Amino acid sequence: MRDLQNPDMLVPPITDAGLLPNLKFSFSDTSMKLDHGGWSREITVRELPVATTLAGVNMSLTAGGVRELHWHKQAEWSYMLLGRARITSVDQQGRNFIADIGPGDIWYFPPGIPHSIQGLEHCEFLLVFDDGNFSDLSTLSISDWFAHTPKDVLSANFGVPESAFNSIPSEQVYIYQGEVPGLLESQEVQSPFGEVSLTFKHELVKQIPIKTPGGSVRIVDSNNFPISKTIAAALVEIEPGAMRELHWHPNNDEWQYYLTGQGRMTVFTGNGAARTFDYRAGDVGYVPFATGHYIQNTGTETLWFLEMFKSNRFEDVSLNQWMALTPKELVKSNLNAGTELIDSLRMEKWSVVNFPGYSYYPKNR
Ligand code: MN
Ligand code: MN
Repeated sequence: MRDLQNPDMLVPPITDAGLLPNLKFSFSDTSMKLDHGGWSREITVRELPVATTLAGVNMSLTAGGVRELHWHKQAEWSYMLLGRARITSVDQQGRNFIADIGPGDIWYFPPGIPHSIQGLEHCEFLLVFDDGNFSDLSTLSISDWFAHTPKDVLSANFGVPESAFNSIPSEQVYIYQGEVPGLLESQEVQSPFGEVSLTFKHELVKQIPIKTPGGSVRIVDSNNFPISKTIAAALVEIEPGAMRELHWHPNNDEWQYYLTGQGRMTVFTGNGAARTFDYRAGDVGYVPFATGHYIQNTGTETLWFLEMFKSNRFEDVSLNQWMALTPKELVKSNLNAGTELIDSLRMEKWSVVNFPGYSYYPKNR
């Protein structure tokens, strides 16, 4: 029997038409790499071919578990889902960074800048990279480089006998089980060159949200998190019965991660084509550049999700605001609409809307 609280996509809206690429992939459909100390799984252009701008990795570390010292060509943006971790980094001028990250905090490491992550307790986080081709399994790791450098070269480089390298790993370590570190202060290294000039950590959930009836939005980009030059995001909350309004983004594709609840997104790509996808916590969604879309909360709990962009800024165009700021006669004649619609248009942008008479479920269903 059909569960109305967990509807599957038996019948899409009758307005759906035409062909669209697949815009959904679930982390639960990926293969996990499991190590002592933690696990990871990823959704890249290999899993979701349309997603060329960004790639996502879902990672968990145990208390003391370490994602080893490494770097990569891509920028790394991360959102802590649960638990706490300690991150470290050193930049090209010898300025260092260390911070403890808790739920709802984010971090950003610029391309090519080395870093590490260690669980202070069991933790889980979402990593987002500014290239859909990225794989976390092919980064540049300290253990891998040591393993593929002759011992006499290591000896000459560090000025110690070759015997100092007798027990180094013979291949990439990736994730390993370490000891739970002490307080942050006990691990701080005083760099003579100081700390990085722009912080790599930002407390996103503690940010004051833009609230509207039906939900809220927290935007983080290079305006309020200056180091985040290539990734912009919005943390969106949609209450039951509410929806993310009809809109699009004039700067780039949108990569989504659903944190809690369940939702339904319809994407309109022009030429009569529109297609609907259902999402729930742990799913990734994607919206091609500049295509129109909206997201309904189809569940009974609050829907939280992340909108992510390969960009230095968050930008969206509201259908409602566009119409409100256009000559009334023009909008009216174009849509053959009555004054009821025209008079209800809002000049102010409401990212999430909740029309009191609207419910996703027809009352007599
Ligand atoms: Mn990394
Ligand atoms: Mn959007």
